[in-house]
Amino acid sequence: MRSPHFTLEHETFRAEVRAFLAAEVTPHAARWDEEGSVPTRVWKSLGQRGWLGLAHPEEAGGGARDLFTSVVFLEELGRTGFGGLRAAVSVHAYMATHYLARFGGPELMRTHLAPAVRGDRISALAITEPGAGSDLSGLSVTAERVGDLLVVDGVKSMVSNGMTADFLVVAVRTGPAGRGPRGATGLSLLVVDTDLPGVTRVQQRTLGWRSAGTAAITFRAVRVPADRVVGRLDHGFYYLMRGLQLERLVAAVLAVGGAERALDDLCAFLRKRSAAGTALAERQALVHQIADLSTDLAATRQLIYHTAWLYENGELPAVECSMAKLRATELACRVADTSLQFQGSHGYLEESSAARGHRDARAATIAAGPSEVLRDLIGRARLNRPDTPASPAGEA
Ligand SMILES: Cc1cc2nc3c(=O)[nH]c(=O)nc-3n(C[C@H](O)[C@H](O)[C@H](O)COP(=O)(O)OP(=O)(O)OC[C@H]3O[C@@H](n4cnc5c(N)ncnc54)[C@H](O)[C@@H]3O)c2cc1C
Repeated sequence: MRSPHFTLEHETFRAEVRAFLAAEVTPHAARWDEEGSVPTRVWKSLGQRGWLGLAHPEEAGGGARDLFTSVVFLEELGRTGFGGLRAAVSVHAYMATHYLARFGGPELMRTHLAPAVRGDRISALAITEPGAGSDLSGLSVTAERVGDLLVVDGVKSMVSNGMTADFLVVAVRTGPAGRGPRGATGLSLLVVDTDLPGVTRVQQRTLGWRSAGTAAITFRAVRVPADRVVGRLDHGFYYLMRGLQLERLVAAVLAVGGAERALDDLCAFLRKRSAAGTALAERQALVHQIADLSTDLAATRQLIYHTAWLYENGELPAVECSMAKLRATELACRVADTSLQFQGSHGYLEESSAARGHRDARAATIAAGPSEVLRDLIGRARLNRPDTPASPAGEA
C-alpha cells in the first residue's frame, strides 16, 4: 500500500532489502530454526550492508537514517515469515544496542556499539527473570559495588539471542526497590560480556522464534567494570520506559510484515487449491474473511505509520506504541490462525510455513509487554484523559 511516509529512496531500499533476504536468508531460515541460531556470517553480511545500524549514530558506524528507513527494513524482515530471525535481528539492532546508542557514553559506543553495528559482536537484552517479567519493580538480579567493579548475581530468563550474544545489556538492581517521581527506583542497565567468569547460559526450548536462541542466564559473582553502566546509575527504569516504546513499535512493524506474508501465502494456496470442482479462492465464506483481514491489516499499518511519524517528530507516544503493538500482534495471530485453518491438514503439518507462522505469531503478544498489560495502559490513559468540552448548544 502506498503511503506519504515513504519516498522513492525508501522504496529503492525496500527492493534492495527484499532481494537480499529472498536470496540469502529466507531459503536457509528453516534450517536456522532447527539449529537454534542465526549463523555468524549472516550477522556480518547484515552488518557490512549497514543494516544493523540504520538508526544508530554515525560515530558508531551507524547510518543515522530516518525512522521510516528502519520501518522498511523491519517490514521486510517481518515478511520473511521467520519469527526467530526477526526477533534475533531486531533485539540486536533496535533493543539491546538502542540503549548504548541513546544513553551509553563514547566509550561504550567504541567498545560495544561499533562492533555490534558491524555485526562482529552480537547483543541481547536481559530484563526478564524467572520471578518477574512485566513488573520491573520485582527484578532481583543484583549488582553490588566493590571498588571499581560491580559484582552481579542472579538469574535472567527468556533472553532472545541469549545463546549467541557476545554481550548483554542487563537490568540489574543497584539500589533498594521503591518508587520515585520517575517510576521504579534502584535499577540500572549494565553491559556484561558473556565470556566473563561466572556467566553460564542454558538454552530454553520455545514454541516459536526458534532461531533466536533463547536462554536462561545465570550470573555468579560476575565482576564487571563499573564503567560498563549505561548512562547513570539507578536510572535504568527511566531508560527502559523509553526503550520499551521503541521495542513495541518495532514489534508492531515486524508483526504486520509477518501477517502480510502469511496472508500472501494463504491467498496463493486458495488460488491453487480446489474442492468439489471449485477453487477455494471462489468460496465466499473464505473470500470475506480474506477481505476482513486485509482491511484490518491496512488500518493497522496506518496506525503504525502514524505512531512512527510521532516518534520521528520527537514525541514519545507511549499510548500509540502500545496500541500499535496490541493491534498488530493480535491481528498477526488472527491471520496466522486463519491461514492454518484454511490450509487444512497442509497447514497443520509441523514443517509447513502456516504452522511456523502460527507458533511465531503467538510469541509477540507476550514479549515486550503482554496484551493485557498494554490494554491496562491504554484503558487507563483514556480514562484519565480530561473530557473534551462539549460544544455549546446550537453551535455547529
Ligand atoms: C518469545 C519470547 C522472547 C522474549 N525475549 C525476551 C528478551 O530478549 N529479553 C527479555 O528480557 N525478555 C524477553 N521475553 C520476556 C517477555 O518480555 C516477558 O515474557 C513479558 O514481559 C511478560 O513477563 P512474564 O513472562 O514474566 O509474565 P508475567 O509478568 O508473570 O505475566 C503473566 C501474565 O499475566 C498477565 N499480566 C501480567 N501483568 C499484568 C497487568 N499489569 N495487568 C493485566 N494482566 C497482567 C498477562 O496475561 C501476562 O502474560 C521474551 C518472551 C517471549 C515469549
